[in-house]
Amino acid sequence: SFRALLTEKADDGSISSSVQALDDARLPEGDVTVDIEWAGLNYKDGLCLTGQGGLVRNYPHVAGIDFAGKVRDSQDYRYRVGDAVVLTGWRVGETHWGGYAERARVKADWLVPLPGTLTTRDAMVIGTAGLTAMLAINRLEAEGITPASGEILVTGAAGGVGSIAVALLKRLGYTVAALSGRPEHADMLTALGAASVVDRAEFLGQPDKPLESARFAAAIDSAGGDVLGKLLRQIAYGGVVASLGNAGGIGLNTNVLPFILRGVTLAGIDSVMQPFDARMAAWSRLAGLFDFNAYAENVAEIGLEGLPEKAEQILRGQVRGRVLVRPAG
Ligand code: NAP
Repeated sequence: SFRALLTEKADDGSISSSVQALDDARLPEGDVTVDIEWAGLNYKDGLCLTGQGGLVRNYPHVAGIDFAGKVRDSQDYRYRVGDAVVLTGWRVGETHWGGYAERARVKADWLVPLPGTLTTRDAMVIGTAGLTAMLAINRLEAEGITPASGEILVTGAAGGVGSIAVALLKRLGYTVAALSGRPEHADMLTALGAASVVDRAEFLGQPDKPLESARFAAAIDSAGGDVLGKLLRQIAYGGVVASLGNAGGIGLNTNVLPFILRGVTLAGIDSVMQPFDARMAAWSRLAGLFDFNAYAENVAEIGLEGLPEKAEQILRGQVRGRVLVRPAG
C-alpha cells in the first residue's frame, strides 16, 4: 500500500482531503509506476484541492499537477526501474490521479527524463511554475525580445511562476520590473534580481487611458484581469506580452490601440499540452540556467498533511515562491 492525500466529495457536495493508506490496486491505468519523492503546489492545485474551477470531475481523487521521482515499474521501452523522471501537465492531478501520494501510475508519454544534473527535488523547485516561466521567456525571445529591448515586467512576481521568471530573466541579462501586490516581499524580489518593484495597487490606481506612456518592452503575466488590461497599454512599440495566468481573474478589459498603433503581440502560453520535444528543450535550458542557491530562500517544504491549509493560502495569493511536498510520511 502507499500513502496518499485522498480528496473526496461528500453527499452534500462538500470537498475534503485526508491522508490514507491505499492499496496498489487502486492506482489508475498507465504503463509506468513512479515512486514519488517530491511534488509541487501550484495555483491549480489549490483549485483542485478545494473543488473549484470544475477541474476535477471524478472522486475520490488524488490531486497534484506535478511530481518527480524514480521509476518503480515500467512496461515502456523508454523507462527502466530507477530512472529519475518528472511529470507536469497532461491534466494529471485533474482528470488522472496526480502527485499527492507516494506512488503514481501514468502514461510513459507524459514523463520527461530528468536532465542528469538535476535532483528530483530540484525538478520540483522548478516544477510547472518554472517550466511555464521558461516557456514564456522562450516565446518572448522567439518574438524578437532581447536584453537590449528594454525593461521586462513580471506580474504576480512573488508567486511561483513570477519569482522564477524574475530569476531566469535576470540570469539572461534582462532588466526586470517586478509587479507585486505584496510590497513586504520587495526585498525578496530585489534579491532575485528585480531592478525595480512595482506596487500592484499603485499600478492599478493610475488613471486609465486608451494608450499610456510606453514603459516596458515586454511582460510575463500571471495575473490576467485588470493587471493584464493595464499593462498592455504600457508596452512599447513592437513589444510582446506572454499571458499565462489568471490569478487576478479571467477577464481582459482592453482596446485595440496597443495592437494597431504599437504592433504589440499578445502571446498565450500553455504548459499543459506542450509536446515532448519542447519540454525536453525547456528542461535542459532550465538545468543550465536556474541558480538553485540564489532561489533557496523561496522554497518551503510540507508533507501531505499540510496541503489542505496551503491550498487555501495559495488561492488567497499568500504563498511566496515555491512550496514542495514530500509525500513520504
Ligand atoms: P502563485 O504562486 O499563487 O502565484 C500567483 C501570484 O499572482 C500571487 O503570488 C500574487 O503575487 C499574484 N496575485 C494573486 N492574486 C492576484 C490578484 N487578485 N491580482 C493580481 N495578481 C494576483 O501561482 P502560480 O502557480 O505561480 O501560478 C500563477 C498563475 O499562472 C495562475 O493563474 C496559474 O493558474 C497560472 N499558470 C498557468 C500555466 C500555464 O500553463 N499557462 C502554468 C502554471 C501556472 P503577488 O502577491 O506578488 O502580486
